[in-house]
This record gives sequence, structure tokens and C-alpha cells, in this order.
Amino acid sequence: MSHTKQTRRITHASRGTLLHILEALPGAVLVIDDDATIVYANAHAQAMTGATPGEVVGTSLWRCAPQLVSPQLYQAVQQASQTSNPINVAYVSPATKNRLHVSLSPTDEGLVLFFHGDPEPLPHQEAWNRDERMYRDLLESCADAVTLVTPDGVILDINQPTLAGVHRRREEVIGTPLTELPVWSHDPMVQQQLRAAMAQASQGETVRFEVSIHPRTGLSLNMVMTIIPHCDARQQVEYLICASQDISECKHAENELRTLVDAIPQLVWVKRPDGFSEYHNQRWCDYTGMTPEQAQGDGWMQALHPDDRQGVLDAWQVSLHTGTPYERELRLRNGRTGAYRWFLARAEPCNNAQGQIVKWFGSNTDIDEQKRLERALRQSQERANVLMDSSIIGIDISKGEQIVDANDTFLRMTGYTREDLRAGRINWMQMTPPDYRERTLQAQQEFDTQQLVMPYEKELLGKDGSRLPVIVGRVALPSNPAQGIAFVLDNSARKELERRKDDLINMASHELMTPLTAVKLQAQIVRRHLVKQGLHEAAEDLLGLEEPVAQLEHLVGELLDISKIQTDGLEYRQEMVDLDALLREITDTMQYLNPSYTLVVRGAAQTTLIGDRKRLRQIFTNLISNAIKYSPDAKTVEIDLSTSSETVTISVRDYGLGIPRELHDKIFERFYRAAGPRQLAVPGLGMGLSIVAEIVKRHGGTIMVDSTVGEGSTFTVTFPRTRDV
Ligand code: ADP
Repeated sequence: MSHTKQTRRITHASRGTLLHILEALPGAVLVIDDDATIVYANAHAQAMTGATPGEVVGTSLWRCAPQLVSPQLYQAVQQASQTSNPINVAYVSPATKNRLHVSLSPTDEGLVLFFHGDPEPLPHQEAWNRDERMYRDLLESCADAVTLVTPDGVILDINQPTLAGVHRRREEVIGTPLTELPVWSHDPMVQQQLRAAMAQASQGETVRFEVSIHPRTGLSLNMVMTIIPHCDARQQVEYLICASQDISECKHAENELRTLVDAIPQLVWVKRPDGFSEYHNQRWCDYTGMTPEQAQGDGWMQALHPDDRQGVLDAWQVSLHTGTPYERELRLRNGRTGAYRWFLARAEPCNNAQGQIVKWFGSNTDIDEQKRLERALRQSQERANVLMDSSIIGIDISKGEQIVDANDTFLRMTGYTREDLRAGRINWMQMTPPDYRERTLQAQQEFDTQQLVMPYEKELLGKDGSRLPVIVGRVALPSNPAQGIAFVLDNSARKELERRKDDLINMASHELMTPLTAVKLQAQIVRRHLVKQGLHEAAEDLLGLEEPVAQLEHLVGELLDISKIQTDGLEYRQEMVDLDALLREITDTMQYLNPSYTLVVRGAAQTTLIGDRKRLRQIFTNLISNAIKYSPDAKTVEIDLSTSSETVTISVRDYGLGIPRELHDKIFERFYRAAGPRQLAVPGLGMGLSIVAEIVKRHGGTIMVDSTVGEGSTFTVTFPRTRDV
């Protein structure tokens, strides 16, 4: 019974007594509930927190007693209430630097915290326990602002840089919500952002975000905030570590760099160590027509030519695995035109202090033009090589008279060897036979003035002295105009053909002339006989033969002349020829033979030439007969004679078909005829003018033509005047 009574008494007494004891205890006692709200505080505790019982009870331990709060205490509270096991914890208050010993005893309603003795001021640094010291050193040595908060955002600890930034003392902020620090509280949007991030982090996730804050008007800071949840052994989030870093300068520098990177002509990109593309400069986006978002990761590959994709990927993998710089030519599509251009892609890895690759910096340089030029160069080189190596054309390079280089064909044509070439034994002037010396010197002059020699015919002396007919043309090397590159074509086949043609003409003209003369004489004899026998009608018929025979005779005569010019040259008599009389005689005959034309003779030569009358007649007969032949519609031919002290000039003018300018020289070549249909309708073999030119030349004169198609032609012959004899 007494036991029961005693118990009851004791129980009764113990509540009051206990409270008394609690008040009398030398240490501070706090009782908190599950939410860390203080439900009881003894006098010591009130003294320690510096608040009245009314202020203390009912508020959160973390908010009302910053001088007690520390992560260690927070951790211990969490642990004790979750495990229901008593815990002892000793720590240094971050706010007061006092050493505190606390016993935490879980009860049914919450937790009793007993602070042993008075908080001792920390005599020496050494008094900190090692872990704590390390923790504090770490926190304070950190240049970034670091704050430890409860999962619902109450500050448990805070380092000096953060305090300096907000101009607060530690004890002022510990136990207050982080979102109420002035940096965050001034902007509800920013505050909200932080709150959301902390909520996410308290789920066990590391959160990182960039934020721009304006702590004072006119001051804008870019911060990157990282919130790392700290978990206990059971993977419960105990508290959050919030580290904020001022990246304003970085941002500024980054912006400057970005402007710079956008200004350079290259397409620039940055990839992560795993190959993920994370940045492309403006130029990259402008060129490909992709947005930075589209280009991210593997998106950029859309701009890559399908044929280049595999190769690029393979090379990139090699670089990623070996860490060696990446270099590759690739084609990227221009987003605007849809056409691909060649780029040289290069990338260098960027390492951190530990030597790990943290980024790959890459650039693409447009090499399309270069590629095109390379291709064109390769092609032209290939073409030049084919020509050089072909056995069709001899090529030599000369400096002055010496040939300094030549292809095999040239050497084979001339019989020289490479050794001769190296020893400088090939000299093209020495390879020129005397009869071509003049023409060759003329070509050299052409080269000196125009850096070009139009193809001309000549002969070369081979090493063994044999003569080789060739066609030669030469141009100066643009890089070194003193040197010329010449092509040499073997012309012997053509020359041989020409020789045979000349032989044929020679033979044919002689062979034809003999029977023709016989026919002509025979006809005359027969006609005379017929007249004698009084058979006048038959004799008259025979006259009809004379005209075609005369035409034939004229033709064969011209053939003979041509042949003679080619072989021994024409023979000329030296006689006094009165030009006026000769011209009158010719025009009278021509007028008689061509009654439908009007031949007008103007002026007088008043000159006697020494020359071959028959040949001089041939000149003017030919010119006048051409003037008539090639004027099917105009009926006037004018012959002008004039004289000066030195020369006498005879011109024959018609108003006929005319001759294209580019043929003015050619018509004096033998067998050359203008190819127009109206010209070809006129019978002829292209021999007359070449004979005329030869005769004029042999009389020391010149012949020129002035003509416009459709308007007519003027042939002008000029002779030097013979001194009066
Ligand atoms: P042919 O008259 O027999 O053809 P020529 O040597 O006399 O040969 O003349 C050469 C070419 O020059 C002619 O075929 C003709 O095309 C052109 N020719 C010569 N004289 C004249 C002229 N007076 N008017 C127009 N063309 C002419």
C-alpha cells in the first residue's frame, strides 16, 4: 500500500520537483516537439537564448536560438528524433564560437536538449575538434558564398563571404529562412525560384540554376546557385548545402568572348567531353540556318553531308578516345542555298588542372574556294602532263637561244638526248638552217615585243644534221617572261604532200601544154586548108574551137607559172614598158570582150618601167578580169593611174561582192579562194592573185587590197619609178 502511495506521491511530487530540478540545473534545458518547436525552456536556456519564456516557447529552435544552431546540432536532432536514441553532441557555435555540449534525449512528445554547463568561449583554435576545424576552414576558405539550410530553408550555418555580401552578422541570420536574406528577398520572382530549387533539392536532387539578382539599384549580379542535399546514413536529406557563385565577371567576359567568337570568320563550336555539342557560334547558325537548340547534341549532323557522316564520326571517336586534336575536311550545307561547301574542321581538347578533358573547342574554316582551286589546278596539271607526255607534240622551254627543258617527243624529233639537254648543248638558233634564219629572227622579235609567236612553218636541224619540217609556236611563261614555252609539231607529212602536189602540178602543166599547143596549131592548119578549098562554112565552125582552147591554154599557162614559181622561178625580160600605153591596150581588149561592163580609166602614169611587158600585162589583165568576174551586179570598173616622184600607182576598183577583212592576206596564197557561195559560183582555181603578187614582187612593187563585203574591192599596185633613161 505504502508502495502505491509512495509511488503516487512520488509521481505527484516528481512533476513539480522535476520542473524545479530542471530550473535548478546548472545547464540549459530545452524541450522541443517533432517540428523542432520549443515547448519548454528553463531559465538557463532563456538566459542563453536571450529571450523571454513567452518569446521562446512556441517558436522554432532554429529560428529563436541562432547562437546554438549548427549543422551538428541539426544533424543530432534529426538523428535522435528518427532513431529515438539519446545522443551526445559537442560542437562550436558558428555564431558565437562558443563550445557547446548537448545531450539529446528523445521522449514521447519530442526531444529534451540538455546543454552541459555554460557555453565555454573557445580558448584556442586547437580546442576545435579536427573534423569541425576542417569543416569550418573549408567553409570559410571557400570564396563562394556557402549556406547550410534545413530542407525547409532555415539557415543553419553561413560563411563569411555570404555574410559580407549581405552586410549581416552571423547571429542575425542563423535560424532565419534563406529566402529572407536581402539578396533574395528583394525580388519575389527570384525568391520563388530559390524556394522551388530548395524544394527540389530536399527531394534528394542536386539543383543548379543561374539567376540574375539586383541587390542594390544599379547593381546587377549574375549568380550560379548550386544546392546539394546532404543525406544521412538512411539516405534521408538532412540539410542542404547552398553554394552561390558570382559569375558576373565571367558572364561579362563570356559575352565579350561570344561577340569576339561571333565576329571571326570561322564557324565555332564547343563539345562536351562525351562528344555532345553544346555551343555553336552565330556564324555557325547563320550558315547552317539552324538554331543553337537544333544544333545541340547530334542535331548539328543534319547540316553535314550524308557521305561525310561516317568518316567524321569515326575520326571524332578516335579523338575522343585518344584526346588527340581532331582535324577533318567535311561538307556542310548552307541553310539558305541548300548547297554544300567544304570546311576544314579542327578541334582541340581543353584540360582542367587535373589533366582531364573538360571541353573540346572546335572551328570550321571555309576551304571551298581553296578546294575548287586545288581541283582546278590538279586538272590543269593533269592536262598539261598528258600533253607533255604525249608523243604528238614536242615541247621545249627556252631561255634566250638555249633550250633548258624539253619533253621526250621533242628530243626524239631532234635526236638529242637528256644528257645534251643537261649539258646545255641544245640551241634553237643553231638548229635553224640558214634559209629559215630570217623568219626565225622575225619570230624572236615577235616574242620580245608580244611575248607570243604565232605558229609558223620552219625547219629544224636534228643532231645528225637532218632537216625536219616543223610548225612552231611560242608563248612567254607568265611567271618568267624571259623564258618561253614552245610547241613543235612535225610538219614533214604535210610538206611531203605539198611536194607531191607540186610535182603533180609541174608534171600535169607540162604534159597538158604540149598536146594543147598541138591541138591549137593543128586546128589553125586545118582551118587554113579549108579556106583554101573554099569550104568557108567548115572553116567558120572550126573557129568555135578557138575560144575553149584559149581558155584551156590560159589555165594551163597559170598552172605552169605556179609550178615555175615553186621550182626555178619565173623568167623575166627586161624591156621598156610604157605603162599608160599598156593599160590602154589592156582596157581596150577587156572592154571589147566584156561589152556589158564600163571600164573607166582615170589619170596617167606617165612612166616607163623597166620590166617584162607580158608579165606586167598579166598583172592588170588578172586584176581587171577579177573585178569583172566578182561584180555580177555592178557594171563599173575604175582604173586609176597616178604618179609621184618616187612611185607609180595603179588601182583597180570594182563595186562587186567584196572580200571579208580576215581574208585580205589569204587571197594572195596559191589556190586560195574565198568560200562564200556567190564567190564559188564564179569559175576559178585561186591561182591568179598568187601569180600577180609574185610578178609585182619581182618588179620591186607592192600589192594591197582594200575591200568591204557587199561594197566592192580596190586592188592597188605600186612600183618604184625607174630613173629616166
Ligand atoms: P580565182 O579568181 O581563180 O578564184 P584568184 O587568185 O584570182 O583566183 O583570186 C583568189 C580569190 O580572191 C578568189 O577566189 C575570190 O574569192 C577573191 N577575189 C579576187 N578578186 C576579187 C574581187 N575583185 N572581188 C571579190 N573577190 C575577189
